[in-house]
Amino acid sequence: MATESNFKLTYSTMFNPPEELHTRFGGALAAVKANLGKEYAMIIGGDEYKAADKFEKRSPINTDWVLGVFQKGTAAESDKAVSAARKAFPAWSRTPWEKRVELVRKAADLMDARIFEMGVTMALEVGKNRMESLGDVAETADLFRYPCESMEANQGFIKEMKRDPLTGYVSTNTSVLRPYGVWLVISPFNFPGALTGGPAASALVAGNTIVIKPATDTPWLPRLVAQCLVDAGIPDGVVNFVTGPGSTLGQALIDHPDIAGITFTGSYDVGMKIYRDFANGKWVRPTILELGGKNPAIVSRHADLEAAAVGILRSAFGLQGQKCSACSRVYIEEPVYDALVEQLIDLTNQLTIGDPTDRSNYLGPVINKASYADYQAFAGELKRDGRVLTGAETLTHGDLAKGFFCAPTLAELPLGHRLWQVEMFLPITTVAKVASLEQAMQHANDVMYGLTAGFYGNDAEADWFYDQIEAGVTYANRPQGATTGAWPGFQPFGGWKGSGSSGKNSGGLYYLPLYLHEQIRTRVRKA
Ligand code: NAP
Ligand code: MG
Repeated sequence: MATESNFKLTYSTMFNPPEELHTRFGGALAAVKANLGKEYAMIIGGDEYKAADKFEKRSPINTDWVLGVFQKGTAAESDKAVSAARKAFPAWSRTPWEKRVELVRKAADLMDARIFEMGVTMALEVGKNRMESLGDVAETADLFRYPCESMEANQGFIKEMKRDPLTGYVSTNTSVLRPYGVWLVISPFNFPGALTGGPAASALVAGNTIVIKPATDTPWLPRLVAQCLVDAGIPDGVVNFVTGPGSTLGQALIDHPDIAGITFTGSYDVGMKIYRDFANGKWVRPTILELGGKNPAIVSRHADLEAAAVGILRSAFGLQGQKCSACSRVYIEEPVYDALVEQLIDLTNQLTIGDPTDRSNYLGPVINKASYADYQAFAGELKRDGRVLTGAETLTHGDLAKGFFCAPTLAELPLGHRLWQVEMFLPITTVAKVASLEQAMQHANDVMYGLTAGFYGNDAEADWFYDQIEAGVTYANRPQGATTGAWPGFQPFGGWKGSGSSGKNSGGLYYLPLYLHEQIRTRVRKA
């Protein structure tokens, strides 16, 4: 996103935005709020499509606000969308890659132009604060651009291989990467822009046609993402957008025999079920899974404690702890434990919470009633088994009673407690004192997840940390976020172990080929 001041918004720079961003967000807020409650159709085969049943999307900020009415799709819509995508595949896959790149770039530019309207939508729908909301939209535009750059850097992935050592013949070998077919994109509620748009754009640049199914908690912003692709002039049927429950519509898509590949981003449990169900097809199909996290920060006795405190705070409580990359565990070496914990409590108590469309609030609500109930249950468990340092209360004064507001929570918890293993996905972080970095590392790796991790200490220790930690995204000494804040092209994002299936990070060098299969073309002629 370009602004008058040439400021580039990323998750590293969002803490000091130019005033212009607030002014323009404020203008868009009034315009969007004056127009709430409209009905939104699906997009199938280039047509607006309405299902028999509908569902309302209300804001987690205030459940009196009906943001929009969406289509409640079923297996019937799954069939229609897949068949539209299948029909569009031959032409799209044979469209020169340069043209596909041009269209996806155009969609990125449209998104930049719509960033304030989309940012407001995001804030109302997810409950993200202003800069997190604008950040997700800006990241989505960059996730549109990254595969375009990747395709260009690799010149369409058409490469001459060695010639066979024949006499009497010339035998040339050309490796080409080609798309698979209809690609399914299922996205979660927390980054409805980036995690819908990122996989969608990679699939499209590669030449696949797509069916998008967003989370039921966040149908609106992904609808606007799909609209950017349509408005850029991508042909009918190439981008299909359906909404409805994961358990019915989503499951029907997973079980559909004409899906050639899938990118699912969401929880471990749903992801593993999808992995198993998808394996029931007639052959093995590419299955990109981006799953949960339980991300640790380790703090050495040599750490800059101010940087550690700010970085941990931002990663623990940004977006109310509902990031797959949220810092939910902190292991601190004994000599600096008391000092760091004191700073963390102090900073946490200064955080502002309320309507996140208001510029003064850092935390908004959690996503829904179920998450709100989870928070209360976890708070009770922490009070019983640990020592709450701050938080562990819902906030219900005034209008906050109409939304799902939870105080940011820090708690000491005995090592070995079950919650050290559970992705709570809430503004809750547990801290523990350790005798050594070795002990910290042992605990850090003792989970089934391996998404992100952070470290604070000296350079030699940081090298040791990178080498030892089992995680796909690692940071050292970062005040902008201990474990959060990746950006395409800067910090490619993906997880190890139970956090991801492909071993290649999105927004990175090796991601786009996941959407392509290789064909080697040998041609022989007489010399
Ligand atoms: P979720 O509950 O797993 O849902 C994700 C998506 O799957 C939603 O669109 C959901 O639809 C759909 N779904 C549910 N059951 C399905 C089924 N049987 N078949 C097909 N689709 C189905 O995840 P969430 O609560 O939205 O998001 C939070 C989770 O995502 C956390 O675990 C977080 O760590 C993870 N996440 C991971 C990354 C990463 O990059 N690794 C990034 C962000 C989030 P409905 O909403 O209609 O149920
Ligand atoms: Mg969920």
